[in-house]
Amino acid sequence: MIYTNSPLIQYTKISPNKTAPRKHNIDTITIHCMAGNLSVETCGNLFASPSRKASSNYGIGSDGRIALYVEEKDRSWCSSNSANDHRAVTIEVANDGGADTGWHVSDQAMASLIELTADICRRNHINELRWKADPSLIGQVDQQNMTVHRWFAAKACPGDYLYHMHSYIADTVNRKLGTAQDTAPISPSAAPPGFSRRAHSSLCHLPGALCRRPENIRRRQLHSNLAEYLLSGSPYR
Ligand SMILES: [Zn+2]
Repeated sequence: MIYTNSPLIQYTKISPNKTAPRKHNIDTITIHCMAGNLSVETCGNLFASPSRKASSNYGIGSDGRIALYVEEKDRSWCSSNSANDHRAVTIEVANDGGADTGWHVSDQAMASLIELTADICRRNHINELRWKADPSLIGQVDQQNMTVHRWFAAKACPGDYLYHMHSYIADTVNRKLGTAQDTAPISPSAAPPGFSRRAHSSLCHLPGALCRRPENIRRRQLHSNLAEYLLSGSPYR
């Protein structure tokens, strides 16, 4: 398989944190949240440090700009799961809202996420995005080819906002791909079903049991963005 990168890239800073080349064809999309309002340059600088042991294929800032950190031919260190990251393109999205918003993302970032995802699907011959919010279907890409970090580690990533937008993202991308199953109008401004502003689900990249225990909410809030978390030296992948 010949791999390419998106023509939508506006900034490139290749991370050393990767496995090259990936060992599986691209057949999955994994959307992450930065848990902070990082620019694509700031995120790239964090991923440029070998000691972070973290990366993603792409990043999107709240201004909608798209960055490349790990080429699609290579596996990023992003989802706490080797098998997933060997077959997935991973995308980190900046948050213009904090924990109390479920890690909201800007309209510009959402628009770029949809365009980038559609482009990834076209170039990698993914004819349709499938999302059932069902972790029992991991790896069964004929039924579900989107995954989320919270299925592989005790993390809230991609945040409740993006998590509950997955159906909208899939529907909108499928319209662009010409494979939409449902022609009913959809709106990004409508509150996604089941959307919650619970503080418990606030943080994207907090390790281990910290995500589960109410007494750790204060600690989670102390690590309220990706930069702070990564600087704390905690394992990311
Ligand atoms: Zn994540």
